[in-house]
Amino acid sequence: MRKIDFNEYKKELLEAGIPESEIYDFQDNPVSSFYQRYFDWCVDNINEYSQIFEVKPSYFYFWDSHIINARAGKGRNVYRIKFSKSYLEALYKKLGRKGQFFDKTDWVAFHNLQKITPDSLEFLMFQASTIFTFYHEFAHIVQYKDKDFTMSEHPSNDKFSFEKHIFEYDADLNGSQFVSVYFQQFFQEQIPRKDQTPNNYKRLMYLGISSIVITQLLFLYGGIYPFQPDKVNTDFYTKRHSHPHTYVRAKYIIEHYVGVAKANGVQIDFGDTTRNVTVICNEFFKDSGIFRDFIKGFQDNFDEINRYSLELYLGQKQNHSCIKHKIGLFGFKS
Ligand SMILES: [Zn+2]
Repeated sequence: MRKIDFNEYKKELLEAGIPESEIYDFQDNPVSSFYQRYFDWCVDNINEYSQIFEVKPSYFYFWDSHIINARAGKGRNVYRIKFSKSYLEALYKKLGRKGQFFDKTDWVAFHNLQKITPDSLEFLMFQASTIFTFYHEFAHIVQYKDKDFTMSEHPSNDKFSFEKHIFEYDADLNGSQFVSVYFQQFFQEQIPRKDQTPNNYKRLMYLGISSIVITQLLFLYGGIYPFQPDKVNTDFYTKRHSHPHTYVRAKYIIEHYVGVAKANGVQIDFGDTTRNVTVICNEFFKDSGIFRDFIKGFQDNFDEINRYSLELYLGQKQNHSCIKHKIGLFGFKS
């Protein structure tokens, strides 16, 4: 991928009216290579798809902020996706460092995969999470085409609106679909032929979706923040707050991920995937009780989760601003 010259790109951002105080210059950061890689990928993708979807001009940059979130917005005739510095660094710390998770497990099959993966399995988790974010935010740009707006990936202080919940649903499915496709391509292109076994394929697919669920849970339980709050409110709700509840999001994100994989001939199903996501998340949140708590909340609200998820699905179907109705432009069939 082409390396983007940050200094040159920054000039364009400033000319577009983006305040200098918002733009984080990552060039001296100790993990600048992490930043640069994601930056190159995002700028490349936003350039390509903003043409195709006619949402121009669109920019991507790292946001110099302590807020841990990503946002999409439009103002002064410019579309933008900003990913906060604190978010990138929190994810890097939690997910991205080679060996920090898999090497501590006794999962022999994953140890073997670790040896043949070009970067590391942890970097793949980081990629899954950040690819999800980018395509989540990109969906918002398309949904609000030609309007001024601002939307976040993770819950913010916005009040409830059913249309916004539908847009979050639509954006989540868009993110999920791209991670599913990324992991399929990764298996086919980056794993040596002799290791391209059906079981390795499944393992990688489970890893991709688990990374998204882990990120969602880090937010729900406050684990993403440097100072974890003492009390977190995980009470279930449907029509409240800026985003659908994490239980609902987790359900439809997994379902869509599996649906996209199956449509492309990958031999996984929903039951099998949730079982494996459970194993990976349990290990990740080991001893913290987070995952047990999550499963309990999920089971206690199972019917409502399904009902609301269906309501969002129907809402998306009827709302023609949703990116779902245009995904043919990405080259996807359905
Ligand atoms: Zn969002």
